[in-house]
Amino acid sequence: MRLSARLSVAPAALVVALGLTAALPAEAQSRRAAAPVAAAELTRAAPATHRAVTFAAAPAAPSGTLVLPLSAASDLDARAATLSSDARAALAAGLKGADFGYGKRKSVSLYGLGGWDRVLVVGLGADASAADIQDAGAAAGRALGAQAGELTLLASGLSAEAASELATGLNLGEYRSDLYRTTGRDKPAPGAATVVADDASGASAVFAGRGRALVEAMTWARDISNEPANVVYPESFVARARAAFAGVPGVTIEVLDVPAMERLGMGSILGVGQGSPRPPRMLIVRYRGQNAPAEVFGAGPVALLGKGITFDSGGVSLKPGSGMGAMKMDMSGAAGVVGAVLALAKSAAPVDVVAVAALAENMPDGGAIRPGDVLTAMNGRTIEVISTDAEGRLVLADAMVYADTRLNAAAIVDVATLTGAISTALGSDYAGLFSRHDSLSDQLHAAGEASGERLWRLPLHPNYVTATSSPIADIKNAGEGGAGAGTGAHFIGYFARPETPWAHLDIANVDTSAANDVKPAGSTGWSVRLLERFVRDYRPVAREVGTGGS
Ligand SMILES: [Zn+2]
Repeated sequence: MRLSARLSVAPAALVVALGLTAALPAEAQSRRAAAPVAAAELTRAAPATHRAVTFAAAPAAPSGTLVLPLSAASDLDARAATLSSDARAALAAGLKGADFGYGKRKSVSLYGLGGWDRVLVVGLGADASAADIQDAGAAAGRALGAQAGELTLLASGLSAEAASELATGLNLGEYRSDLYRTTGRDKPAPGAATVVADDASGASAVFAGRGRALVEAMTWARDISNEPANVVYPESFVARARAAFAGVPGVTIEVLDVPAMERLGMGSILGVGQGSPRPPRMLIVRYRGQNAPAEVFGAGPVALLGKGITFDSGGVSLKPGSGMGAMKMDMSGAAGVVGAVLALAKSAAPVDVVAVAALAENMPDGGAIRPGDVLTAMNGRTIEVISTDAEGRLVLADAMVYADTRLNAAAIVDVATLTGAISTALGSDYAGLFSRHDSLSDQLHAAGEASGERLWRLPLHPNYVTATSSPIADIKNAGEGGAGAGTGAHFIGYFARPETPWAHLDIANVDTSAANDVKPAGSTGWSVRLLERFVRDYRPVAREVGTGGS
């Protein structure tokens, strides 16, 4: 469900509803009242739609569009085993005539074969993994988003899990990012989709148990990332999270407002947020599955921390104007970690996990922090601000101390669109992974391979300590030397106790992309699938001073 309607109350009313008016300093209240948020209240996003998917052992009579996932022409007999021999012969002849390489994420349409109006052949590539099969489904969803009529997807010869991945991909591929187009937007496709699978009831159970939740969580994360910053700011992010989790069993939500963060001494995130009329928030979403095994989660939850800068202007260290609009997505880490917990909670996964979203808007203002200012984080450590544009690590410092000391997390993974340097190092093929704990790093790497959201480990060199040393405070928020992604990771890790298993994911190079075969332009929803897989497969990591990564 889209939530703009929920936010249609006047801003002042929203503040009252959240019980915050009395808590805001008078100055903040007056600035808030003057904030031009009214225009955003007139903004209404279009609702997300997905085809309803069902599973069957055999197709109905040919009608509408057939989706045929193949690694090679020789797969046809197995995949199309439920069609008539005449239909198979027609498809074989059609495939022979098509110049198609069966590559991953590629598709080709054939028309009028075997009684079907259209046959969409999607490539699986050789040795297709679960992620490749999901991608094939997404390529179909993307190609057929506006296609009217019934869809039939053939998954014969594939496992129940693979058939569910195909359905999950179909729904993910239907995602649209043109949330606010009022003209030229195609009508949503009306037809339903049927996946033909050998074990139809098994596939249906896997999809209902996990796939559908993943689609809902990915849609939530992509939507909130694609939304502009006049719609999504710390308080509205919280409101949307509350709505998404409403009624989901096992979930508790806690929100720290400014006075609560002041009481806890979270001077780092409060410093970042003080230049904006929209105050910061720390959102904590805990999900405890009923059957979470004590031998895995007895020591505490897995904590996922997300950088949630709802707009990053750079602050007083103002960014260049070109491309600044993309900084509405500087909250993609927060969207990813909350989305991962949403996927786990909605599928009743047997895990204990908590997402901590560190939400703030980074704006230049007479009241904003300056370069040279010193902030004090929740653990009492002091930070010299070199650049107000290195704010992600500042909000995560307090989130880290909170997760480590208040939530007693057994392991902590933070996710952040942290540095431009990560793009230079890794392009957009891998996100950056930093950790002192090899076992945690290995588990994240494996989850990346399984989910298709892949990671490459980078070093935490001891020199980063010197690079971030400050003459006036305990640490400074921008390092010297060229290892920008590494010094950023070191800064965040400085706020975790050395024995706490911790990893940092820098996703600044993968959180958004141009349109491609599986998605439209905009948010990738990156880290939802990775972290959902990671937490499901999580094994306890020893609590000892980590020595890996350098
Ligand atoms: Zn920044």
